[in-house]
Amino acid sequence: MSAAPLPAPPPALAFAMEAQQGAFVQCVTGLQRTLRTTPLGWALVAWLCGDRIAPVALLTWLGLAFTGWVACLLVLARLRRVGPDVQRHNGWLLAVAVTDGAWWGAVMPLLSGDDMALNALLAAVLCGAMAVNAPVYVPRIRAFHAMCAAMWLVALCSLPGHLAPGMADIVMGLGLFMGLLCFVMRDIARRVVEGLRLQLANAALTAQLSEALAAASQQAATDGLTGLPNRRSLDQLLNAQLAMAQREARPFSVLMLDLDHFKAVNDTHGHAMGDAVLRGFAQRIQAQLRRSDVCARYGGEEFCVVLPGTADALALDAGERLRRAVAGAPLAPNVPVTVSVGVATWRAGDDAAALLARADDALYTAKRTGRDRVVAA
Ligand code: GH3
Ligand code: MG
Ligand code: MG
Repeated sequence: MSAAPLPAPPPALAFAMEAQQGAFVQCVTGLQRTLRTTPLGWALVAWLCGDRIAPVALLTWLGLAFTGWVACLLVLARLRRVGPDVQRHNGWLLAVAVTDGAWWGAVMPLLSGDDMALNALLAAVLCGAMAVNAPVYVPRIRAFHAMCAAMWLVALCSLPGHLAPGMADIVMGLGLFMGLLCFVMRDIARRVVEGLRLQLANAALTAQLSEALAAASQQAATDGLTGLPNRRSLDQLLNAQLAMAQREARPFSVLMLDLDHFKAVNDTHGHAMGDAVLRGFAQRIQAQLRRSDVCARYGGEEFCVVLPGTADALALDAGERLRRAVAGAPLAPNVPVTVSVGVATWRAGDDAAALLARADDALYTAKRTGRDRVVAA
């Protein structure tokens, strides 16, 4: 039996989880970047130690650091490949942090000694390593704490061996610095993750808003019953066509269509059937048109078709094709209807009102002379 799918988390929780994942990825990529600069730190340590300590001790530390460094880079590369699964991979990130801290901390047991100046410099290097890593670990502050703890514990290993005078001061100073840094970083980390969560919630809200806006402007341009462009869209379209026709002297035509005796359809079959006929009519007409032609609902049972690049006889043919398509088969079961069509082609100097008025006149003539016919202006 397959397990029931888990319910989707509530939005706030989903954003929190996504923010955690984003923070995890940020930390992993930041660490990869920082680790690439680590050899500079090794060079600094090697330079500080110079000829003050036995080369074998330095080489031992460098070997240890290099091994840990390679292991960390391999783990981080794998974490990048498999993607963010905070629950499953957090342990790996902590392991990287501990290794990172441990090899730095090993500076003290391996390289410090009776030379107080060197001890102080090495302690300063450790503080520097912490400070450099702090911003990288901010999104996953527990990993930072793990790194500091590992560094601190390993560094402390040097104490019993050579607790030279003055060494305790260095250790105390280092401890104080670590404590303060961890405390401050915790607060910064909390704000960073909260900022990420807010960013995600904001982005989701913005997307929702633009979707709603797109839907609203689509609704404002569309007739609710037929899904055709409404009168407002028709006006815009006509104005655009007029501008183009004037600029390029490219004619276009409009057809005014009015269903014949539509009131009788409502009276006989009911308003709902009337609506179904109007929807069927819209589909029938659209099926007959080219992609560049537009059919809009002008109002009630009147429609207007714009035919770009079509003039006179061709527009008349188009009107006749539409008329036949409507009369040829009922638009709704057992409700035969016909349509009258008035055709007008744009002439230089026409504005939208003049063009529509001529198409309307032609339609009126079609009605007067018997309906179910196409008349040119
Ligand atoms: P004519 O052949 O002269 O055009 O006659 P007609 O009955 O079609 O014209 P008239 O203007 O007398 O009636 C139009 C009818 O269209 C009346 C109105 O109720 C109906 N109508 C307008 N819009 C809608 C609509 O959205 N749905 C329905 N069902 N009917 C509508
Ligand atoms: Mg009418
Ligand atoms: Mg009518």
